[in-house]
Formats: sequence, C-alpha cells, structure tokens
Amino acid sequence: MNALGYCPQCNKTLSLTDSFTCSCGYLIEVDQELHLCPFCKKQDFYKQKDFNPLIGRIIFIIAAILSLFTYGLSFIVFYIIDFFLYKKIPFLVLCYYCGSHFRDVLRIHEIKEFDHYKADMIKYNQDV
Ligand SMILES: [Zn+2]
Ligand SMILES: [Zn+2]
Repeated sequence: MNALGYCPQCNKTLSLTDSFTCSCGYLIEVDQELHLCPFCKKQDFYKQKDFNPLIGRIIFIIAAILSLFTYGLSFIVFYIIDFFLYKKIPFLVLCYYCGSHFRDVLRIHEIKEFDHYKADMIKYNQDV
C-alpha cells in the first residue's frame, strides 16, 4: 500500500508505504489492511477511480473535433475507449476525515464509493 497524507502534528506532506516516524517525532503507523487511517486514526474511507477528469475532457474534445470529419463515428470510438479505460483504471482510496490518499489497498472490495450522507454526518459531528 502507498499512503499520501499530512502529518497531523507538523502538517508535513508524507508519502509512505510502511510505518514511519516523522521528523517532528510523530509516529505514523501503517496498517497494510487499512482498517485505520495512519494519519488521523479514523476508519472511514471511500474509493474513487484514480483518473484525472481533465484527461477525459481532452479526449472528449478531440472526439468532438474528429466527429466533424467522421460523421460522429469518433464518438462511438470514444465511448468504447472510455469504457475500456475506465475498467482498467485502479481505485484510489481516500480518508473521509483528513483526505489522505491510498493506493494499492488490499481490501479495496470492502471499501464503498463516496457517500454524501456519510460525508455530511462526519462533517457535522466534527463541528460539534
Ligand atoms: Zn510531523
Ligand atoms: Zn485520515
């Protein structure tokens, strides 16, 4: 697993694959199964496709321009490419609390996609 987040004590950006002691002395304990967030010690995560939406938009614009010459055929090709690309893109796991990123998470199938209700609950509870 690869974790990217901020040290809760000194706010330094940390990218790590295993337990690590920050230069400020804070111990980041990485649990390879990701039951706890190594940065904020909470246990609520969601997953999303690790895909830059800008790339998707650029591909779409290219397909739109090409469609002028191909009578819309490029859109069909675009949707086919998009469909296969989307399936191949790995999931990125994010912590609801601190926004840390995790790649190559072992129990990815157990983690659900983003839930607005849950996110609101977490936000509300934090403010209290
Ligand atoms: Zn630190
Ligand atoms: Zn966290």
